[in-house]
Amino acid sequence: MSQDAVTPRYLPADWPLPEITAANRAFFTAGRLTLQRCRSCAQVQHPPHDICHHCQADTFDYVAASGLGTIDNVTIVHHAGDPRLADRVPYNVVIVTPDDHPDVRIVGNVVGADTVPVEIGAIEIGAPVRCVFTEVPDPDTGETLTLPQWELDQRDVARPVS
Ligand SMILES: [Zn+2]
Repeated sequence: MSQDAVTPRYLPADWPLPEITAANRAFFTAGRLTLQRCRSCAQVQHPPHDICHHCQADTFDYVAASGLGTIDNVTIVHHAGDPRLADRVPYNVVIVTPDDHPDVRIVGNVVGADTVPVEIGAIEIGAPVRCVFTEVPDPDTGETLTLPQWELDQRDVARPVS
């Protein structure tokens, strides 16, 4: 499946959407995995911020990433900490390291793999994932957000031996 794949929203429809800022707009609206890069020192950082965490400069470019990554950490949430999540548990939260930006960590959910309990076990540290997107209209602005999410990916199986 391509990086352009669109999935249904993973969390409930009334779950809050991110507040869009100048710094995070590209990440949440580009429709492909897009990361913030400092114009001064070229450090790529996430989450996007007003200031470079490496050199404190405040001007940035936004660079497209491959959308391929690896699960760095995973939690399966069984207790609904908010009433809006009561019908959603158990759900997963993952931290993904993009293959082409190994210093970056991105929090999200693996979609499409936890409707059957046995499949939750497939969401494990080291599993390859691929970025997909959930399109959601922002009720405040009417803008379409493209929320980056993750799908388990089998590319290691298909990768040719080099
Ligand atoms: Zn910098």
